Amino acid sequence: MQDILIVGAGTAGLTAAIYAARAGKTVTVLENEAVGGQIATSPQVENYPGFESISGAEFSDRLFTQATALGVSVELEKAQAVRVQDGVFTVETGGESYSARALILATGVKHRRLGLAEEASYLGRGLSYCAVCDGAFFKNRTVAVVGGGNAALQSAIYLADVAEKVYLIHRRTQYRAEEAVIRAMEAKPNIEPVLNKTVAALLGEPLLQALTLCDTQTGETSELPVNGVFVSIGKVPANDFCRDLVKLDDAGFIVADESCKTNVPGIFAAGDCRTKSVRQLTTAASDGSIAALAACDYLNANA
Ligand code: NAP
Repeated sequence: MQDILIVGAGTAGLTAAIYAARAGKTVTVLENEAVGGQIATSPQVENYPGFESISGAEFSDRLFTQATALGVSVELEKAQAVRVQDGVFTVETGGESYSARALILATGVKHRRLGLAEEASYLGRGLSYCAVCDGAFFKNRTVAVVGGGNAALQSAIYLADVAEKVYLIHRRTQYRAEEAVIRAMEAKPNIEPVLNKTVAALLGEPLLQALTLCDTQTGETSELPVNGVFVSIGKVPANDFCRDLVKLDDAGFIVADESCKTNVPGIFAAGDCRTKSVRQLTTAASDGSIAALAACDYLNANA
């Protein structure tokens, strides 16, 4: 039995773990993918106060080291269900179960899919959701990045140093990314924006060879030869296992305000998984600290 169980070892979850451990609580963190969460695969972080520039991987490593040095236990386990009995929260992971008197949900978000029927079958055959993870497979080849936000433009910038040619396919003419990121993208001579287009189909056997593009204004279709496509069109919540546990909004985010309190006493939500308007590294860290301190208050009041 731990004091606090945290689901998700991203920035929010590990920040919560650091605060809770420093407050003298016993803490276990469950993570089903990479420690560090989304930021672990971000090429460069340049907007976190105190760091002019740091890779996402190094940032994640530092968080992990800081948390585990404080005695936090991080388990690579996928939370599948939560039971609540007599003020104890038990998370089932398939093979194991973990119990605590307070629960912090910091499950983050997962990649939004294009929604094409053939999408899943092209994973590993030319389609990827992570430029840092898979970019090296496309050295000196031609790739496309889909999306017009910070993540897509940063992926295109990263890939421009690896691939010979990078098409940036966006469904509008205006980007959603920060000005500094747009300028950095425009400074890369081998990135070619392909605007007002969506991806209608993935073509090629056994590997991806081309995309069918659809013009968002005329509806006309065209073919774009590429060796790889990186889909970076935003994120959706990964809260399915919480559906019957806490209140979710229509989009699937956990309903919790700046206090990080959910509708269930003893359960807190931190980071991108909760309802909020700004999803950034800074706000994830902020949530982690607030959720941890709220959980500590809850435990002390219910000791
Ligand atoms: P985002 O900002 O929501 O951008 C998603 C992009 O994908 C938008 O351009 C959107 O087009 C497009 N899109 C969405 N659905 C699509 C579809 N079905 N087909 C084609 N295009 C589609 O997502 P993000 O770039 O993943 O960023 C998520 C959050 O993390 C944001 O708050 C972002 O600022 C933050 N972030 C920050 C940094 C940083 O360094 N500051 C880096 C990465 C991420 P429309 O523009 O037309 O809607």
